[in-house]
Amino acid sequence: MNIGLIAHDKKKKDMITFCQEHTHILKNHALFATGTTGLKITEATGLNVHRFKSGPLGGDQEMGSKIANGEMDMLFFFRDPLTAQPHEPDVSALFRLSDVYHIPLATNIKTASFLIESLRE
Ligand code: PGA
Repeated sequence: MNIGLIAHDKKKKDMITFCQEHTHILKNHALFATGTTGLKITEATGLNVHRFKSGPLGGDQEMGSKIANGEMDMLFFFRDPLTAQPHEPDVSALFRLSDVYHIPLATNIKTASFLIESLRE
């Protein structure tokens, strides 16, 4: 499966924890992330992650393009609901596209734990 991983700055710690706890599952899939999120995941886990641009610089839109082209199967997007984002339009667009294409989407670490378990072999 192609799996997308994005975390806003205040949620990056959650994303690292999530990836560390589920490295054994994630390593069996193709991983795609926005720039900084991907870098931090790789540093923390050694997982191989294809990195798009940083989210505010177009990375969210790159992820959206993968979804629109039928090349993304699941998305983990840990959003920060308490901080205004300069790229809010891109964030909303990505959530919208996920619903257009019926992509399973987790927006926080607890939902993510349920979703990733569905991939356990
Ligand atoms: P980042 O982007 O992984 O480059 O920090 C995430 C975002 O804010 O969309």
